[in-house]
Amino acid sequence: MTDLPVFGAGIWHFATYKDRYATDGYGPPVGLLEQIDRAGAVGDLSVVDLNWPFAGFDGTLDDVKAALSRNGLEAIAITPEIYTRDFVKGSFTHPDPAVRKRALDLMHHATDVAKDLGSSYVKLWPGQDGWDYPFQVNYHDIWQLALDGLRELCAAHPEINFVIEYKPREPRVKIIFPNVARTLLGIEKIGLPNLGILLDFGHSLYGLETPADAAQLAIDYGRLFAIDVNDNLRGWDDDMVVGSVHLVETFEFFHTLRKNNWQGVWQLDQFPFREDSVEAARQAIRFLKAVHRALDSLDDSALAAAQADHDALAAQRLVQRALLTSMADTEDT
Ligand code: FE
Ligand code: FE
Repeated sequence: MTDLPVFGAGIWHFATYKDRYATDGYGPPVGLLEQIDRAGAVGDLSVVDLNWPFAGFDGTLDDVKAALSRNGLEAIAITPEIYTRDFVKGSFTHPDPAVRKRALDLMHHATDVAKDLGSSYVKLWPGQDGWDYPFQVNYHDIWQLALDGLRELCAAHPEINFVIEYKPREPRVKIIFPNVARTLLGIEKIGLPNLGILLDFGHSLYGLETPADAAQLAIDYGRLFAIDVNDNLRGWDDDMVVGSVHLVETFEFFHTLRKNNWQGVWQLDQFPFREDSVEAARQAIRFLKAVHRALDSLDDSALAAAQADHDALAAQRLVQRALLTSMADTEDT
C-alpha cells in the first residue's frame, strides 16, 4: 500500500463557535491549549494550522510550543487574522492607508511567528477584501491594492511560502479572490515563487467549480501549495465532515492529487457545530484513509483508457468498484 499522507487540521476545528443566532456560542469557550490537546487526542493528526494573534490566550509562544510538542504536533501554518472587526472594509484593500498598514504589519508579525515555529507557510484568507453592493468599490483600484500588498509581503520574506485561500463569499458578499482562475491570475501577475494557493475543497464546491479541475489547474501552474478538505451542500461554506455529501467528487479530487504525485498535507477545515470535535476529526480521517486505500485499488490504466474516450459510464464503473469496496472496510481502521 502507498504510504499514508500526513493529516492535519485547522486548530479552530477544536474550538466552539458562535453565529448570528447562537451569539453566546454553541458550547463553552475552549482555550487554545485545550484546542491543541483535543487535536492531539484525535490520534492521527501530525500538524495544525494556528490563527494568530492567539485570541483570548494570555500565555507565551513557549506555552504553545510545549502544548504542541506534548501532543506530537507541529504548526504547519500560521493564519493571520486579517478578517476580524479591525478589517471590516478589507485588509490589503481597506480604503484607509493606515488600516492597510496595520493589516500588513499584522501579516509581517504573523510571518515572524511562523518562522519561529518552523511552519511551512503563512495562510492568507482575505475574507473581508471585496464588496457587497454594486457601485460600492472601484474594481481596478482594489485589485491593484490587493496585488501590491501581496507583492510587498511575499517579497519581504522569500524564505517562507504564502498561500491565498480563495472563497466565493462570506463574510463579504463578494470576495476579491473568489475562485482558482482569478487567484492564479493575480499570483502570476505578482510573479513571485513563494506565493501559491490553498485550495479549500468546500470553497471550490460551493463556488461551483469542479474541485479536481481546480486542483489540476493550480498544479499545472506550480501553485498548489496546500489543501483544506470538508464538505457542504453547495450553497454555503457549511464546513461539514469531509466525505459526508460529495463522495465521488472528493475521490476525484484526491485522485488528481495522487496522479500528479502531490505530496502535501491532507488538512481538515471542518466546523463541527453540534458534533464532538474529536470524533468528527476521527471520522474524517477514517474516511480519508479509505479514500487512500481506494486510490490504491483503482485501475488507473483502465481509467485512463476510459478518459481517453470520454467514456463516462466506464469511468463510473471503475470508480464505484474501487470506492465501494474500500469504504466497506472503514470500521477496521
Ligand atoms: Fe479552509
Ligand atoms: Fe471555509
